[in-house]
Amino acid sequence: MRDEELRIKLVEYGQRLMAEGLVTGPGGNLSARAGNIIYLSPSGLAFDEMGAGDYVGMDLNSGEVIEGEGRPTSEYLVHLVCYRKRSDIGAVVHTHPRYTVALSSAGHDIKAMFPDFHIYTHSKTPHIDYITVNTQELADAVEGVVEDANVIVLRNHGAVAIGGHLKEAYYRMASLEEGAQVQLLAMQVGSPRFLTKGELKELDDLATEKYRRKLLEQSE
Ligand SMILES: [Zn+2]
Repeated sequence: MRDEELRIKLVEYGQRLMAEGLVTGPGGNLSARAGNIIYLSPSGLAFDEMGAGDYVGMDLNSGEVIEGEGRPTSEYLVHLVCYRKRSDIGAVVHTHPRYTVALSSAGHDIKAMFPDFHIYTHSKTPHIDYITVNTQELADAVEGVVEDANVIVLRNHGAVAIGGHLKEAYYRMASLEEGAQVQLLAMQVGSPRFLTKGELKELDDLATEKYRRKLLEQSE
């Protein structure tokens, strides 16, 4: 995908995050990789105020801004460590979604209660205790778990979702937040039963679910 097309996609997915209620105002940020450059949402703008030209290009190796006028998101360190740690990552979504923040900040772990959550997140879901935002310490903590996680919960803060491309990262963030919402609803009417390891393994082995994952993996 050419850089210009990627910037247009970034605008589109930023708007989807807003429409789905996954971000509020200028909170949350988004990036995608084109070769050795990552395009990051700018600091201080809401997704519905951004145009393709507002995305800031950063050299993945040096961390220097090489394209764009504005500043990249102040949370860029978290994005950088994800791309540096995993070469299969093409996009990173970081938001502060309300149900994920509510449940995890109250000490609960968000876990699979229904198949879609597991199919789309397709990994374990590590939870990181609160660390001051925009610090190298927070980025280091994310780096420590991202190798085998596609969604990471940051207690009292938000979540990070990664994917081979924007659509995959976006679906994973939306699935995490849906899971948190369903879990919270279940807790209000009883004790949620989570899917067991055996049940998750069975889902992984189902041809129909493998197909759904593959479709998402291959689409952009
Ligand atoms: Zn944040």
